[in-house]
Amino acid sequence: MKKLFGIFGNPVSHSKSPLMHNMVFKNLHYKGCYTRILLEDGTKLRETFLNLKLSGANITVPHKEAAFKACDEVRGFAKNLGVVNTIVYENGKLIGYNTDADGFLYAISEFKNINKILILGAGGTAKALCAKFLEEGFNVEVLNRSPNRLESFKTMECKTSAWESFKPSSYDLVVNTTSAGLEDDSLPVPKEIIEQILNNTSYCADAIYGKLTPFLQLAKQKKIPYKDGSDMLLGQGILANELFVKNTLQKEDIQKEMRKIFEF
Ligand code: NDP
Repeated sequence: MKKLFGIFGNPVSHSKSPLMHNMVFKNLHYKGCYTRILLEDGTKLRETFLNLKLSGANITVPHKEAAFKACDEVRGFAKNLGVVNTIVYENGKLIGYNTDADGFLYAISEFKNINKILILGAGGTAKALCAKFLEEGFNVEVLNRSPNRLESFKTMECKTSAWESFKPSSYDLVVNTTSAGLEDDSLPVPKEIIEQILNNTSYCADAIYGKLTPFLQLAKQKKIPYKDGSDMLLGQGILANELFVKNTLQKEDIQKEMRKIFEF
């Protein structure tokens, strides 16, 4: 019998994860099938996962913090983070992981001489990236629209600002982790602030993939080297797939198959 996997999110129709994981399952003859699951209420994640008899799942916006709460056990980097993007069903338990941050490091590996990073946004992805960047020894600043969302960053070794209190500096890399531009044409921070930020940065990256967001359009206009979220998606997907198939497939093969989705 085929194992069922899925991605929980709202919205979720844009997600490429089903294509990526199904490409691996089909071409490497793994008996699995991966689908999209639109979930409005994050507190229903656990019961939905169990009702659908899933073997594993990914979690996207806005349920990554709810996914952490849904797990029986959380392993590795995600444990202190409180943010889960991958769940694996193991001996009757839901085991949580976070593969986003390592996926992002994979994505920016070609950007050189990075030291100071500005993260736009303070949601689940921002938290994962911030913790990983600090672990890697980068100097990190976080800028968010709502001041209250910054509270959980105050215990981390990073500078935090809301729009009103922000004083721009110069950065090596600016990363958009907000969902601004995902389904609309908004910038992640007001135009006058983003202009100042982009005039003083070497590289830009966006977690959003599949479109040139207004943030990246501006980076392009200013001739700043940039990356959209595709490589991050690929990086996190490879790591998640490895967890799903539990050592039955080689990482190099997973990588080769998943990469095909981005070559179309
Ligand atoms: P969360 O819901 O946890 O956080 C959303 C953040 O975006 C908050 O900081 C929120 O600010 C901010 N925000 C939302 N709308 C706006 C707006 N119009 N203007 C300014 N700020 C805004 O989301 P996640 O962290 O889970 O995901 C964020 C994005 O990253 C999504 O677009 C997701 O698709 C993408 N992503 C991509 C991945 C990839 O593999 N490429 C992996 C993970 C995420 P506030 O606190 O003020 O509400």
